[in-house]
Amino acid sequence: MKIDHIAIVVNNVEDATKAYQEALDVKDVEFETVESEGVKVAILHLENANIELMEPTTDSSPIKKFLEKRGNGLHHIALETKNIEDEVTRMEGCGIQFLGKIRPGSAGTKVTFIHPKSLNGVLTELCSKQN
Ligand code: ZN
Repeated sequence: MKIDHIAIVVNNVEDATKAYQEALDVKDVEFETVESEGVKVAILHLENANIELMEPTTDSSPIKKFLEKRGNGLHHIALETKNIEDEVTRMEGCGIQFLGKIRPGSAGTKVTFIHPKSLNGVLTELCSKQN
């Protein structure tokens, strides 16, 4: 397993991207709007993982609610695994609780989320890029 990305909620994705690019000296950035999640995302490619800055685009977005309640900050970490189905089965055997089923993510990936209470308060995404 490896860290795929760290997701951070921000008020303004353009401003945040500029600040992160300057601070981390990162040139490699792509923007993506995920309609189904109601977010606009900037993906900053670091050497070993990405940082995703997420701004809510709709009032019904769960990210909007997060932002109103907690303000800017860490939203989740994402762990990449080769076989997400096997990993979920293995983790459930360890008593890990998931938020919903495995579902399609962006660009052909599969994702699911681990309940924060299973990992000491950290919302954690599991993702798989194969199949
Ligand atoms: Zn994510």
